[in-house]
Amino acid sequence: MSRFARSWQVLFWEEPDYGAAEPHLVTTMCQETGVSVATPQLPHGLSRAEEAAALKLLVDEAVGSPGKPVVRWYYTPMMLPFSEHVAADCVVYDCMDELANFKGAPPELLPLEQRLIEQADLVFTGGYSLYEAKRDRHPAVHPFPSSVDAAHFAVARTVGVEPADQANILGPRLGFYGVVDERMDLALLAEIADARPEWSLVIVGPVVKISEADLPRRANIHYLGGKQYAELPDYLRGWDVALMPFAINEATRFISPTKTPEYLAAGCPVVSTPITDVIRHYGDLEAVKIAGTPAEFIAGCEAALALRKDPEWLRPVDVMLKTISWDLSFRAMANLIEEAIATSEHVQPVVSPVVWPSERPQAYDVMIVGAGFAGAVMAERLANDAGKRVLVVDRRPHVAGNAFDRLDDAGVLIHQYGPHIFHTNSADVFDYLSQFTEWRQYEHRVLADVDGKLVPMPINRNTLNLLYGLNLETEEEAAAFLASRAEPVDVVRTSADVVISAVGRELYETFFQGYTRKQWGMDPSELDKSVTSRVPTRTNTDDRYFTDTFQAMPAEGYTKMFERMLDHPNIDLLLGVDFCEAREAYPHKHLVFTGPIDEYFGYCYGKLPYRSLEFRHEIKDVEQHQPVAVINYPSESTPYTRITEYKHLTGQVSDRTSITYEYPSAEGDPYYPIPRPENQALFKRYEALALAQGDVSFVGRLATYRYYNMDQVVGQALATYRRLAARWAEQDALELPATQAA
Ligand code: FAD
Ligand code: UDP
Repeated sequence: MSRFARSWQVLFWEEPDYGAAEPHLVTTMCQETGVSVATPQLPHGLSRAEEAAALKLLVDEAVGSPGKPVVRWYYTPMMLPFSEHVAADCVVYDCMDELANFKGAPPELLPLEQRLIEQADLVFTGGYSLYEAKRDRHPAVHPFPSSVDAAHFAVARTVGVEPADQANILGPRLGFYGVVDERMDLALLAEIADARPEWSLVIVGPVVKISEADLPRRANIHYLGGKQYAELPDYLRGWDVALMPFAINEATRFISPTKTPEYLAAGCPVVSTPITDVIRHYGDLEAVKIAGTPAEFIAGCEAALALRKDPEWLRPVDVMLKTISWDLSFRAMANLIEEAIATSEHVQPVVSPVVWPSERPQAYDVMIVGAGFAGAVMAERLANDAGKRVLVVDRRPHVAGNAFDRLDDAGVLIHQYGPHIFHTNSADVFDYLSQFTEWRQYEHRVLADVDGKLVPMPINRNTLNLLYGLNLETEEEAAAFLASRAEPVDVVRTSADVVISAVGRELYETFFQGYTRKQWGMDPSELDKSVTSRVPTRTNTDDRYFTDTFQAMPAEGYTKMFERMLDHPNIDLLLGVDFCEAREAYPHKHLVFTGPIDEYFGYCYGKLPYRSLEFRHEIKDVEQHQPVAVINYPSESTPYTRITEYKHLTGQVSDRTSITYEYPSAEGDPYYPIPRPENQALFKRYEALALAQGDVSFVGRLATYRYYNMDQVVGQALATYRRLAARWAEQDALELPATQAA
């Protein structure tokens, strides 16, 4: 901020002080840096909404009409509700920590963070782990790991006066400075103090959120309280080793402690618990010891004390320190901001009202992870039928999971994650979904491109006639033709067996081998027979892809249908938020998990293989691109598997048309569980863990590792709900007599 203040007017907005008679602002200018600091003064007892309204007026008063570019810069999403109406040329979210994982994080923090990410032009992260956690949520995320004012801290390497409260503490001294809160491993501190009574532990910093009574008290632990930034080098000067005794927990998963380079600049070797970003950036330095257990930590301190005897250890430290500085970070940030300002339109933002926690329950009956078919059906049933309070969380910024559709720039309703054609034989499933959508009758037809010739797929009598120049007229003739080519096998086991035993090797190679190799990254002979069994062979001329009783597309699209399913007063929706962020923040009695089951269990048995796809969406300046909705490209010489043209699915009329290419890939979102015996065996191990979790239900394609169609997922979710409701009813019946007795 001080660097920005050299060329900008910087107003730093603080948390309010309470106790004033009327809301007003106290603004002071820091003489040294030129940064103005505004501290709102508010009366006690305002509701959250009233407080936001009061702060909004104070912000307007402070900002006025600047007549020059405005940057809104956020260190916390909590400041958004009273400032997001301010027209800005650039909005920066400078994310320094995963604040939602901190003790006492307010429940509205995550939805506000998503709102901020949607508004932000730039997202900066205070470290690489945070960058990895945020980079998929915004197109312009930039990591800025901690930097250092090396000259400021290097003063500690020179002779100076000892601060009075440290002067009488005996050496060797092992010091820590920073906020003392739930991130500190207090038990570790106590163990070090007990194991080495001859060492003195010096703790500088305010105690926040945790009770003073929880701090370990020992003769050789000295809590000196908070100090000014300017004073830190004087304390560091008297330390032999600097400590980072962080607990390894949710609150420290993403931290990138700024104190690491500061300690080093001050000439102190460092001992740290295994914080990911410390290992990543400093783990190779001899001066930084990483210690996973108390015994290792003590050994690390001993090694660090020994290191100080020979000044050589500082040489690689100083080389490293030359590569980082706040000036470099500032310059890079300022360039990005200037670029954003150059393209800004400075429009007044239109913002919808924030839902405050008083209007949102603090605890839910059920948390549902995933807003796809599995999650949405469970949410609808639990809210509508069982009257439960439900929170649905999805890491994507939209509902509908893989079935998500949206209007593109040509106004065509496209499927973001590839074509989804609804078909089912289940009247129950069709009737259930019909409550939330009208339908457009549609029967799916697919052609395969064989050397430029378009022929019906699945293989039918016309396919054979077109391909071989035949004139097979009856089902019997077609069956006899196929039988003459088929190569029967004793046991049909693989996806190659299924096809070769029905149509022979040549048709197998033409239509299935290349396509499957591309789609799955392996030969059909390596895949379970269930994969190619999905596609039949016909001797008649039926050219529909599916023969199910019900075949139709939701008239206004899948997303609209999902919005109606989830539109219930008992359902809250949290989009753009990962389960790991929400799990602690929103207490719940039961969990429905529809994400990958191996992810839920922390990949404890290793990763389950999934196949992925990349989608290339294009708008063409022609009315029609191809004669049917989907053309398959079975040849291995074409990199994509199929092209979909959506207007066939929607019946929309337009001068332009929208198409999607599908490129199979090993990397990316998990789309297809890969049906192979060993994968099923690995899934079974995870399933055994799942069955042991009484208060978690696993539902859907990823959570049950099944290559399910949409209707099968709906059926599975409806059945899971019925079982769960019956179990709860049984439990309630058992509890009832006791309640009545009471
Ligand atoms: P998903 O739709 O995958 O939903 C799971 C949701 O959970 C996702 O939105 C994900 O973001 C979220 N999630 C996962 N982990 C977390 C986490 N840790 N935190 C927060 N959120 C999380 N079926 C048909 O019937 N007809 C078709 O034509 C058809 N075509 C398809 C084409 C393609 C390219 C693909 C990939 C699938 C197709 N399917 C089709 C299958 C269909 O997509 C699935 O059956 C259906 O979408 C599965 O629903 P689900 O709820 O189980 O999973
Ligand atoms: N398949 C193929 N050629 C085709 C169509 C399908 O080899 O022209 C194989 C391929 O292995 C594919 C499987 O059959 O993955 C199932 O096809 P389906 O159309 O049911 O796949 P979906 O896209 O619905 O998962």
